[in-house]
Amino acid sequence: MPDDVVAGRLGVSLSDLPPDPHRLPPPAAWFAQDAERHLLDRPKFCPMCAASIEVHGGISTEYWTGDQRVFMTWCGECGWFGDVVRYDMVTISEEDH
Ligand SMILES: [Zn+2]
Repeated sequence: MPDDVVAGRLGVSLSDLPPDPHRLPPPAAWFAQDAERHLLDRPKFCPMCAASIEVHGGISTEYWTGDQRVFMTWCGECGWFGDVVRYDMVTISEEDH
C-alpha cells in the first residue's frame, strides 16, 4: 500500500511521519522478496556483547555463498566484526554421555 494512502487512512500527512528506516522496494521489484527476508532474518543483536545492532549504529550486510546466507555484521557498541551464517538445517553428531 502506498505511503500516502496509509497516511491518509491514519489522518496525517506524509510530512508528519518520521522517515521509514526500513523502506522496502516496490513489491514487483526482482529483489523485493530478498529485501524482505533480509529485514526479517538479519542479526538483531551482537553475538559478542548482545547490544542491539540497529540501536548502536551497527550494520549487517548479507551475501550468499551457494545456498548459505551470510550476514557480515559490525557492532557499533563493542566493535565486533564478523560473519553470522544462517542455516536452514544442520546435522551434527554428539558423543554419548
Ligand atoms: Zn557488540
